[in-house]
Order: sequence, then structure tokens, then C-alpha cells
Amino acid sequence: MLDKAPDGKMSDLLNALDKALSAGEVERAVDLFQTDCYWRDLVTFTWNIKTMEGKEQVRDMLKARLADTKPSNWKIADGEDASETDGIIESWIQFETEVARGFGHMRLKDGRIWTLLTTMSELKGHEEPLGFDRPMGAKHGAERNRKTWKEEREAEAAELGYSRQPYCVIVGGGQGGIALGARLRQLNVPTIIVEKNERPGDSWRKRYKSLCLHDPVWYDHLPYLPFPRNWPVFSPKDKIGDWLEMYTKVMELNYWGATECKKASYDQKSREWTVVVQRDGKEVVLKPKQLVLATGMSAKPNIPKFEGMDIFKGDQHHSSQHPGPDKYKNKKAVVIGSNNSAHDICAALWEAGADVTMVQRSTTHVVKSDSLMELGLASLYSEQAVQSGMTTAKADLIFASLPYKILHEFQIPVYNAIRERDADYYKRLEKAGFLLDYGDDDSGLFMKYLRRGSGYYIDVGASELVANGSIKLKSGVDVKKLTEHSVILTDGTELPADLVVYATGYGSMNGFAADLISREVADKVGKVWGLGSNTTKDPGPWEGEQRNMWKPTQQVGLWFHGGNLHQSRHYSQFLSLQLKARMEGIPTPVYGLQKVHHLS
Ligand SMILES: Cc1cc2nc3c(=O)[nH]c(=O)nc-3n(C[C@H](O)[C@H](O)[C@H](O)COP(=O)(O)OP(=O)(O)OC[C@H]3O[C@@H](n4cnc5c(N)ncnc54)[C@H](O)[C@@H]3O)c2cc1C
Repeated sequence: MLDKAPDGKMSDLLNALDKALSAGEVERAVDLFQTDCYWRDLVTFTWNIKTMEGKEQVRDMLKARLADTKPSNWKIADGEDASETDGIIESWIQFETEVARGFGHMRLKDGRIWTLLTTMSELKGHEEPLGFDRPMGAKHGAERNRKTWKEEREAEAAELGYSRQPYCVIVGGGQGGIALGARLRQLNVPTIIVEKNERPGDSWRKRYKSLCLHDPVWYDHLPYLPFPRNWPVFSPKDKIGDWLEMYTKVMELNYWGATECKKASYDQKSREWTVVVQRDGKEVVLKPKQLVLATGMSAKPNIPKFEGMDIFKGDQHHSSQHPGPDKYKNKKAVVIGSNNSAHDICAALWEAGADVTMVQRSTTHVVKSDSLMELGLASLYSEQAVQSGMTTAKADLIFASLPYKILHEFQIPVYNAIRERDADYYKRLEKAGFLLDYGDDDSGLFMKYLRRGSGYYIDVGASELVANGSIKLKSGVDVKKLTEHSVILTDGTELPADLVVYATGYGSMNGFAADLISREVADKVGKVWGLGSNTTKDPGPWEGEQRNMWKPTQQVGLWFHGGNLHQSRHYSQFLSLQLKARMEGIPTPVYGLQKVHHLS
């Protein structure tokens, strides 16, 4: 008998799954999974972002959630075919639940499900007005006292937050708040974004002068409105600022610039937030049902405390406050830290003619931007990927389909190849005294980002300056103290300094919850970010998903949103659907709400 083609095998499996699930037969469904299976669900079954690892967890979830999820119509996605490589059959899939349409991805190994990704595309009856359903814009016909689009926008802007309350308030109007705001706008969820900076994009504009995005354009698109094809690969910070400002306007967001959120509290009884903001010098009290903190995961500066900081006579500031190198020509600069910001700032200071020393306290992962692009990202996010038909949405979903538990196994070979390709480069850096690592398990940059959001530099030129000694390096030492005119290191070295930059990173986002709501609520929701991988700065136990991001937290009505541009784009879809469902009164029983193991 002829072996079936991949389409046939995939369809057989999907039919069997459909039948078992429709009949409510959990055991029959679980039998279709491999022992070492992974089912990653973005909202469809769990109303959570959750990976079930192994058959037992799949069984538990189905027992809890199958009856009211009522999944059906599992099939290979319209217009797609299954494919087979090295014995793994994979395909895009589609399905429905009682309340939503879903899209996903499945991999079969030995005829059983190895990885399954299920994501919510849209809520039935609450679809976005797109394509055939796009708004008319014009109202044909004749009507007395009709309002123009502009007048309607102005009326909305005047009433929302004053005579009419928003359903959702997003604190923080960086790219995260803006992307989520755009999705909520399309879903008709009344939302106000409050941002203490004056203009959208200012959070980028205010960063150090030389900054360009470290990630390439294919990775950075915002929802609905991709960058044009002539957009630079690495966007300069002020250019991305302008794009965000334009985007905010054309996506018709209710964006309150120059508005600072001062405090927020939740009333358990009315299930409503009281959010106090300062707008145009006046206090405004907002009463949303949902509060999203999109205040930035690289936004709460970690400022170290060293003896003598109070007597130091030169300039000193955290990297987030660094104005750029212009006034430091011929001055002596000491930069504490050795990650992205430290490297960028050192290089810009060197270019401006400063005498720069980088103080590296512990190992750093460094990867050349070219190598990262070619070996790490090219298959999903590159011009070649675009040419071969890869779309941003598919790239995001393929990435999402790789379970976090085994993601490092896919990453280690990539970084081994990079180490081999750039062996001379790494040797030269080590010779200069630079302390390198490749992640605790050699899994490289992206795992470090997911686990701890720090500890690396994507090399766009500064490493050469470190290797050739143009940027002086003191490694394996810490700062002991500052004097009036110098930095003293723990090995006794004295570095004369006119400028000290603390490129010492950022703290957990629940620090914002502590500032704005209360320490009690911050501790109740716990640490934000990290997977529980039990690697440096990401303590266990294993969580399996990014802590507290884009999903329900232990505080009803409180959400965290953000991450890099890719994550903001991708996860804003699932957060917006969770919020929309709640607004519409669709039951959203959360399966597997994470426990709190760490406070910050
Ligand atoms: C040096 C550097 C380089 C980076 N490079 C990249 C890159 O190449 N690609 C990438 O994707 N990411 C990069 N990042 C990560 C970057 O922080 C994020 O991608 C991006 O800024 C996150 O957007 P966000 O909206 O989540 O947070 P932010 O941009 O930090 O925005 C948060 C906003 O919240 C506002 N806010 C905070 N508190 C309040 C309050 N109480 N009331 C009102 N408003 C408030 C702030 O003013 C701010 O505008 C970089 C970060 C740094 C520091």
C-alpha cells in the first residue's frame, strides 16, 4: 500500500482529534499526542497563555476546559498544505471554539502530535471591520446636522474620560501601549492611553542620541501598518519615534500625551479601577474596568548605590538619562556595565573624542549583528524570507509554535555555528580581557532575552573598539567607590572621571505596580518577565511562559504589556481579545493562573 502524503496524514489526525474532542472523549484525544508533547495555547482553550507539557498536562487541561470550549472543525488551514521534513509532518491548522475562530500549527512525530499551537484569531460576532467589512467612511445620502469624521473624532476626544468612561486605560504610550491601543480600537473597546511624555515616540526620542534599533525592520512591524519597503533595516531612534507618532494619529488612538498616571486602586465590589492622572496641570479621575501597565520592561532604571556618589563632582547618570556624547569631547568617561546600552554609549563617546573606559563586572554575551541576522533570524525575518513568501504573521506564529521548554535546543546549534564562524573575533575580544558567555547553557541571545531580558550586546561596531583598545576595558571588577574626581575599582585601580554612566539595566515591571498601585498588589502579582528557567537572573520553578506578560495576573483587571516590537505586535492580539471578551461579557474562565514565586 502506498504511504499517504503529508496532507492525508495530517488530515487523518485532525479528523481523529475533531471526533474525540467533539465527543468529549478526553482519553481518546490524549492518545493522539506523543508522550513528550507540547500544546501551547494562546487564549483559545485556557483564556490564558499557557503551554501544556506532556500528556498529563494536556489531559488535565482538557478535563477542565473541553466542555465549555466546545472545539470543532479542525482542519488544515484554507489554502495551506502539510509538509514533511526529517519525519516531522507539519501544517497550519484552523479550528473553532464556541466563541472564537482559531488558527494554529501542528507538528506530528511518528503519527502523533508532538507540538500544537492554538491561537485565537477572532471572537465570533465581534470580528474586526476589515476587508469586505471595512467602514464606509462616507455616509451616502442626505441627513440634517450630520457630523463629519473630524467632528466625531473631536466629540469622542472631548467626552471620553470625562462624561464617558473608557473600558480600558493603558498606562504608558510607548510602542507597547500604542500597538495594544490600535488593536483595541479595531475591536471597539473604548480605551485611553496615558503617557507622561508629550508626544508618541518620545520614549525612543529621549534615549541616547546614537541609538538605532538593534532588531531589523522585518521583526519590527506594528499591527495593521507594516513599514514601507524602503524603510531602513535598523531604524534610527528618532525615525521610529516619528513613525509611532504618525501611527497613533492614523490609527485614531485616544492618546493623552503629557499625562502622568499618579495612582490607581481597584474596588473589588464595583470591579472597577480608580486611576488618577495629571493632565494639562489638572487632576482627572478615570474609572476603567481594566488597567494595563505598558510602562516598559526597559524603563525602571536599576541605579546602583556606591559610596561617594554624593561627592562626585562630574556628571553621573543612568544610561536611560544619558544625553549623548556631545559635551564630553576630550573628557574622561567611565561606563559601568557591558551590555547593549554600555557598548552603544561607549562607542558614541569614543566617536566624539572622549577617553572612555568600560567597567565589566561579569560576563556578557556578544553576537555580531550580521551573524545574528544571517544565522539567527534570516529564515523568518529577513528580505530573503519575504522573497520566499514568509509573512510577518506566519513568522510570528512559527516562532510561537516552538515550546519554550525546548526552545534552547533549537538555539544552541545556531550559537555554536556563530561561535565557529566568528571564532577569531571572539578570540580577539577575550585577548582584550572581555569576559564572554553564550548563555548558561550556550543557547545565546534570544534565550537570555526571554529569561532575563539582559546580559548581551548585539555588536554593531563597539566590540572592535574594545578589541583594539580604543574603548579601554576593566573587567572582572566592580566599583568600590567614587571620589570627587574618580572611580575606584575593587582591584584598587583609580579611573579619573568627568562622567560616570550607570549602564546597569532595568528592574521588573511590577515595580511600576508598586509605585502606582501598592506594594501589596505588586507582591500579589509578583515578578514580571522570565520563564523560571533556573538560570542566572531567572530563578525557578519552571513557569513555561513569560511571567505575567499579556495574560491574567493574580490581580483581577491588572495586565502587563510590552516587550520588543515583535512581542508587542504579536501578543497585543491576544491581550486585546482577552479584554474584548471581558467587555462583551463572554465567560473567560482562566485555566492555570500562574502562582507567584518571586516578588521582583
Ligand atoms: C537602549 C535600548 C535599546 C533597545 N533596542 C530595542 C530594539 O532594537 N528593538 C526592540 O524591539 N526593543 C528595543 N529595546 C527595548 C525597548 O525598551 C522596547 O522595545 C520599547 O521601548 C518597549 O516599548 P514599551 O512601550 O513596552 O516601553 P517604553 O518604550 O519604555 O514605554 C513606556 C512608556 O510608559 C511611560 N510611563 C511610565 N510610567 C508612566 C506613568 N506613571 N504615567 C504615564 N506614562 C508613564 C513612559 O514615559 C514611556 O513612554 C531597547 C531598549 C533600550 C533601553
